Amino acid sequence: MAIATINPSTGELLKTFEPLKDREIATKLELAGQSFEHYRRTSFGERSHWLQAAAVILEQDKLDLAKLITLEMGKPLKAAIAEVEKCASVCRYYAENAADFLADVPVKTDAAQSFVRYEPLGVILAVMPWNFPFWQVFRFAAPALMAGNVGLLKHASNVPQCALAIEDIFFRAGFPQGVFQTLLISAAQVADLMADDRVKAATLTGSEAAGASIAATAGKQIKKTVLELGGSDPFIVLASADIEAAVVNATAARMLNTGQSCIAAKRFILAEPIADQFENLLVERFTALKLGDPTELDTDLGPLATLAILQELDQQVQTAINSGAKVLIGGYPLSDRPGNFYPPTIIIDIPTNSPIAREEFFGPVALLFRVPNIDAAIKLANDTPFGLAASAWTTDDQECNHLISQIEAGGVFINGMVKSDPRLPFGGIKRSGYGRELSIQGIHEFVNVKTVWIK
Ligand code: NAP
Repeated sequence: MAIATINPSTGELLKTFEPLKDREIATKLELAGQSFEHYRRTSFGERSHWLQAAAVILEQDKLDLAKLITLEMGKPLKAAIAEVEKCASVCRYYAENAADFLADVPVKTDAAQSFVRYEPLGVILAVMPWNFPFWQVFRFAAPALMAGNVGLLKHASNVPQCALAIEDIFFRAGFPQGVFQTLLISAAQVADLMADDRVKAATLTGSEAAGASIAATAGKQIKKTVLELGGSDPFIVLASADIEAAVVNATAARMLNTGQSCIAAKRFILAEPIADQFENLLVERFTALKLGDPTELDTDLGPLATLAILQELDQQVQTAINSGAKVLIGGYPLSDRPGNFYPPTIIIDIPTNSPIAREEFFGPVALLFRVPNIDAAIKLANDTPFGLAASAWTTDDQECNHLISQIEAGGVFINGMVKSDPRLPFGGIKRSGYGRELSIQGIHEFVNVKTVWIK
């Protein structure tokens, strides 16, 4: 994929970038390695001061930064502004808490004194996706830099201007030169980078294929990785649930980022007694959404980020129809306008044993299933290669406990939609990846847990 800005609303190629040459990458790696030797000795107070400054820049420049997000990947402007604000909040969270999270932990043993100390690892490579082009990067960088690591960013090829803007924010915030660098490189250049001795670990958010590829290289080099991959999150609605609230949240959860979110609710698993009511209300809600120009503040759904995503989604919907499913609304890309526009779509009667029922739909398409009881709901929810998160709706305490203990996922949200929060760990199991971001767990991913024993 060329490194370029292509407006998803029009298909217009706006700007292209040459990938860095080997010698340019070598220079940046050299700088990263040198910066680490100095930066690792800075205090939590200094790092916190720079990260707070980054938060201020994000807030001051939020409209311009949000416009860049909208331009490069089509996110509606109001959601893009919210994304930039959330980046400021994660900076403040780690600026305020990292010293406590990484303080020495005394342990009573046979030693005169023994404790656990957390130390930075060095240069960490972050390979990031386009769907939350600021948030994905800041949720990696805020804890990693507070821990004393330095960061190298390989961003998705369709958001190069966002990638450069992020590097600029860290530099303007006062972080020493080389502590955070953006490398405009192709996916094919990542393996060599990962193999370089100076790179100590990597985090990747993206597809299973990309995750498997980087983990294979890292495995050969005995380097740690954190992988945040795809998801096909269930949204279970049981008969006791508050249906109106469930439908409002179901709409938000499926349509988040025009459906292009790993934690978007993708499979709606409905108890038979409430299925008709839920289905009718969901059709009403989806139909009321405003699809169109993402630069307008009242737009709910913008274009999909690239033509390839639109084509893949279209193919998946057609495969579902060919395997016996029915479309209630939507079902085809909009052909009356340029750009990658796909309408809100609801699909029912998907054979649960068809391969398409187990795939991730990365766009505004909801798959609805009906089940006779809670155990059938849980069985279907778990019948997926993914295990990122789940949302479940019930007012019954016993059902609530049963759902929490039986659902196989990195997170379970009861009577609420799945969302990330700096204070809570975020990540998956099964083919959704491993490791955690955010919270205290996130900052502990890229540190040396050093055991100290003194007699
Ligand atoms: P992608 O193709 O895997 O791209 C993600 C990043 O990986 C990009 O920077 C891409 O670079 C790079 N990449 C691709 N192939 C690579 C390889 N073989 N080696 C090294 N790097 C490689 O994913 P996407 O289609 O953009 O994003 C959608 C996927 O990400 C979905 O499955 C979604 O669920 C997942 N996602 C997960 C989370 C989470 O937190 N779990 C969050 C957001 C998205 P290029 O752009 O240059 O190809």
